[in-house]
Amino acid sequence: MNLSILYRGPLSSCNYACDYCPFAKRTETSAELAHDRECLSRFVAWVEGRTADTIGVLFTPWGEALVRSWYQNAFAALTQLPHIRKAAIQTNLSCKLDWVENCDKSKLALWCTFHPGETTRERFLAKCRELLTRGVRFSVGVVGLKEHLAEIEALRAELPAEVYLWVNAFKRELGYYSPEMLEQLKNLDPLFPLNNRYHTSRGESCRAGSGVVSVDGDGTVRRCHFVKEPIGNIYSADFESCLSERPCPNETCGCHIGYVHLDRLKLYDTFGGGILERIPLGYR
Ligand code: SF4
Ligand code: SF4
Repeated sequence: MNLSILYRGPLSSCNYACDYCPFAKRTETSAELAHDRECLSRFVAWVEGRTADTIGVLFTPWGEALVRSWYQNAFAALTQLPHIRKAAIQTNLSCKLDWVENCDKSKLALWCTFHPGETTRERFLAKCRELLTRGVRFSVGVVGLKEHLAEIEALRAELPAEVYLWVNAFKRELGYYSPEMLEQLKNLDPLFPLNNRYHTSRGESCRAGSGVVSVDGDGTVRRCHFVKEPIGNIYSADFESCLSERPCPNETCGCHIGYVHLDRLKLYDTFGGGILERIPLGYR
């Protein structure tokens, strides 16, 4: 079986304070952190045991996980497994990066979000340069807020052309972007128009639930992060029986980690092996 897993454990805290985010500067008790650590350890042990499968993992934590040693150690363990094809994570890139040397870097990838206001462009770019020096694959992106447009343009200009920069559209306000801004954003991220819409998905065929699933800290399996109904549990003996093709029950799908699996959009042709870390073919 070739399976991609989007893992989101109970961790829900962050060292940054983005004003649109519920996890801004949220802290957790040592008991809550210990629980997250136990859940992750159980998940890694489960992956280690699936030697007959080929598995890719994208960690999509609530908050920031890479400042926690147990996530860094999980990457070292997962990337060394012969049956892991990729281990990737969404991160604000604020952590130290020495831990990547314990990983098989050919299987490691980072999905890095720049948060202007929480760090400086210089500091963020220094981390990007360190990733390049250390030989780690990564994508870089920003939420496309109007007030950050100049920063996004400067970031694009300073990154090597072979590093993909994505822009997540701000879709909470209808007509938020002027036609000129839409053009500017498309020049920065050729795939921006795809992100700047909600894709009709009800009844459509989507790999979520068959080739890719969402898993939480208890092992509960959902087809994706956007369809709340559980379909199984990875810790059940008959786990695989929950994997099947099903039409999407939601009206639309508006988030990259969801619509990238919608068959109609054929985005596996665009991203190839970089599907989990959001790196299209042709980039580093
Ligand atoms: S870095 Fe991410 S998780 Fe942390 S506050 Fe900002 S948006 Fe939220
Ligand atoms: S189209 Fe989106 S919401 Fe529907 S099943 Fe796929 S990932 Fe989930």
